[in-house]
Amino acid sequence: MTITLAPPPRRIRAELVVLDDRFRTVAGDEYVECLYDGGRWLEGPAYSSAWRCLVFSDIPNDRLLRWDEVSGQVSVFRQPSGYVNGNTLDREGRLISCSQGDRQVVRTEYDGRRTVLAAHLDGNRLNSPNDVVVKSDGSIWFTDPPYGITSNYEGNAAEQEIDGCHVYRIGTDGTLTVVADDFTRPNGLAFSTDESQLYIVDTPARHIRRFEVDGGKLLGGEVFALCEAGMFDGIRLDHAGRVWAATHEGVHCFDPDGTLIGKLLLPDIVSNLCFGGAKGNRLFITATTTVWSWLLTASGARRP
Ligand code: MG
Repeated sequence: MTITLAPPPRRIRAELVVLDDRFRTVAGDEYVECLYDGGRWLEGPAYSSAWRCLVFSDIPNDRLLRWDEVSGQVSVFRQPSGYVNGNTLDREGRLISCSQGDRQVVRTEYDGRRTVLAAHLDGNRLNSPNDVVVKSDGSIWFTDPPYGITSNYEGNAAEQEIDGCHVYRIGTDGTLTVVADDFTRPNGLAFSTDESQLYIVDTPARHIRRFEVDGGKLLGGEVFALCEAGMFDGIRLDHAGRVWAATHEGVHCFDPDGTLIGKLLLPDIVSNLCFGGAKGNRLFITATTTVWSWLLTASGARRP
């Protein structure tokens, strides 16, 4: 039997901007690796420890791709995908996806079937779910801007049925509730390690807001950080509460006190990122047509 391994990935020197000495303790390898270059607009990276792979979206090409950590090969995981954007894994390791084309949040079950978790609010279709996170209690939180219905490029052009672009929570009983209704275009979102806080991007406002989580509700929502390079998209937190954010010039890293402490510059516009790898310290980054990985001394936020 012949096993085909991908050639070693292209590497470039990590171009870092250290704005605060605190960044020196978390920035890792002096190289970043390009794991894939062949998408049109890549998004939604989700790492599976069990399957040692990264699933990510190629939205305009209406497909989900899968990078195999063992072989380095990239293959098509699902096409058409329903113009899936954000992905994450739930507590049981099942893939949760935001389908911009079908205007749904869907779960891929162990047998491959898909279960629609949310599609309507009071009888009206959702706009086009964008990004999603799962809390340790099993509830699912997602954002719903209209990027998938404003044109046919990364979804299906259609009328907006809901007055507004909200942040939602799907309870373990399947109930859909609006948890924030004062966003212009909510986008990336991420819980702090202890889940006491939820950070949410408002893309056109070019900022990240931070909320206190009170059971199934959000309180507060002050501006945590402003974007100084284009607009924010996806975000993730590490184990120490630092916020890693996708921007138009690369990845920005914020201390929990809101200070921008450093940047990783990349040649492409960054859309999203996630932590993965055996020790949770490998940052996977989707950036326009490419997927990059960067080994850090920091590791991703672990759920309590
Ligand atoms: Mg997004």
